[in-house]
Amino acid sequence: MSSISGETPEIDLDALTRKYEEERAKRLRAEGLGQYREAKGEFARFAQDPNSDPDFARDPVRRDANVLIIGGGFGGLLAAAHVRREGVEDIVIVDRAGDFGGTWYWNRYPGVRCDVEAYVYVPLLEETGFVPSEKYAKGAEIQHQCRLIGEHFDLYRGALFRTSIETLDWDEARQRWIVRTDRGDEIAAKFIVSATGHYSSLKLPGIPGIEQFAGPSFHTSRWDYRVTGGDADGELTGLAGKRVGVIGTGSTGIQCVPPLAEWAEQLYVFQRTPCSIDVRGNRPTDVEWFTSQSPGWWQERVENFTNWTSGIQKGEDLIADSWTNLLGEPTAVAGGVVGEVDPAEMLRAELLKMEKVRQRVDTIVEDKAAAEALKPWYHYFCKRPGFSDDYLQTFNRPNVTLVDTGGQGVERITASGVVVGGTEYPVDVLVFATGFEFMTSYTREAGFAITGRNGLSLDEHWSHGAHTLWGMQTRGFPNFFLMSLLQSGVSINYMHIADAQTRYIASVIGHCLREHVATVGPTAEAEDAWVERIVSLSGARKAFLQACTPGYFNQEGQPQPEFELNIPFGGGPHEYLDLVRAAREGGFVDVLEFTQPARTGE
Ligand code: NDP
Repeated sequence: MSSISGETPEIDLDALTRKYEEERAKRLRAEGLGQYREAKGEFARFAQDPNSDPDFARDPVRRDANVLIIGGGFGGLLAAAHVRREGVEDIVIVDRAGDFGGTWYWNRYPGVRCDVEAYVYVPLLEETGFVPSEKYAKGAEIQHQCRLIGEHFDLYRGALFRTSIETLDWDEARQRWIVRTDRGDEIAAKFIVSATGHYSSLKLPGIPGIEQFAGPSFHTSRWDYRVTGGDADGELTGLAGKRVGVIGTGSTGIQCVPPLAEWAEQLYVFQRTPCSIDVRGNRPTDVEWFTSQSPGWWQERVENFTNWTSGIQKGEDLIADSWTNLLGEPTAVAGGVVGEVDPAEMLRAELLKMEKVRQRVDTIVEDKAAAEALKPWYHYFCKRPGFSDDYLQTFNRPNVTLVDTGGQGVERITASGVVVGGTEYPVDVLVFATGFEFMTSYTREAGFAITGRNGLSLDEHWSHGAHTLWGMQTRGFPNFFLMSLLQSGVSINYMHIADAQTRYIASVIGHCLREHVATVGPTAEAEDAWVERIVSLSGARKAFLQACTPGYFNQEGQPQPEFELNIPFGGGPHEYLDLVRAAREGGFVDVLEFTQPARTGE
């Protein structure tokens, strides 16, 4: 028997490996990603915006713009803020939502919060003066900060909300992107920043009978408060006397289950795979401490968080939470994404962590069968870790039933209930906490077609996998910047990466506008070198994910053939951030090629 010891509890590595493999095998499905449904066609209503006026109308916009940004979430807002700082006035932000906020506009479900500390996750706090009221801020507060950023940088001017891009076509003669929308707009933009988010297309489970359910049903990212009453803080009075079913127990499910349990007469939680639930420890912001921070504190704190979550323990752990002491010492992001710590040390710490997470379930959940079912049996980073001080406790309530599907998922949905293991659980309201498309296809998730030079579509260009420089630019698509996880750096705190990327993008755009550059894109050498580096680092992540329980991280256990290319950068956040910083500070002239207009002064 090989074992992991040196710290309690002792782990039988062979037995654990067998158990992980058994649990993974139960969940593997032949249909892979095909098990999900898009919110289109007969399911289109699931994507409708419950917070926006359905009768909204406006005249089409026809104009030129210097910079058009797709997406009014933090990615787009950061891009706009940094571009504004370059002195660019003419910025248009387009978003299908009714306001700024991105994921925080859409996700208004009860209990929604950010699971990364607000003081490092929420950007531009020093600029707007906003003080998050808690360490882990509520979604509504975060969306409020998005609106403040919009006001502070005067981004509402020219913003087009409730507007979906349909096509982006590069016009070589005009050297502009022609952007067409579902509201008949036609905007000729010199530069495009596509910041469409990582979780922007909701997905539904293709459970037989899903279309037959007769009662109200909705996805968590389109929460229907007309049905439940109340708001994200609770008071879900519309659920009085109602039997509610929630399908999905990921990061979203674990946040909305406790308030649902409080207001529904009966709550059924349908679980396929349990989330790992570690301590949360939320607390109110010490406003005196917050307002006494020295200028530049946000950047310093953000760097501290990234250091502590990627194996570089320099100085004090300022955040000191379940992310930064995730694996005890040393902490590191696992899963082959970030490799700044000895892999053997990592594995040991991660297995012990998961064991403690399982033990925590026993200390909280009173019903033994429910406690067993709530224990996660997979490597810590196979799924996004969860943190909660009230989710597990919910299963001690008399009106809450955990319906564990033994890894198989819900069997069937009928007009009036949900069937698991041949038993029908009657429900009046059904909530899908079933997540989002993730790194399927850039244009599929974004929802519009992109056509670059010589009529080449981005889908065709990347049909055998993505080719980019630092995940932000791709040859053949001049003056086009994208923000996605493909070949991009990653950190647990997405905002660290997004801030660095948008500073780089703004600095290139500022340079091009000042120098009257017509087009900019990566050189072949620079792009090829980056792609080569991505591929050379992909092995560790591939091996890790192939052994993982199915989920959206590993395309439901069936990684795509283009996996080596369609992944984030595997070298850790620091190398990526250093590269992007050096590029922003002027290094971009060596990796980008610029063309001058046929005549200047356009
Ligand atoms: P996930 O994809 O993480 O979870 C979907 C859930 O639905 C899983 O539990 C899945 O089970 C379950 N499911 C899918 N199909 C079925 C089925 N047929 N029967 C039963 N169950 C089913 O989506 P989330 O919305 O929870 O989270 C998505 C991401 O959004 C997170 O990983 C995180 O990155 C982000 N997020 C961030 C938050 C934050 O605080 N920063 C908060 C919330 C979300 P299985 O696991 O077996 O696939």
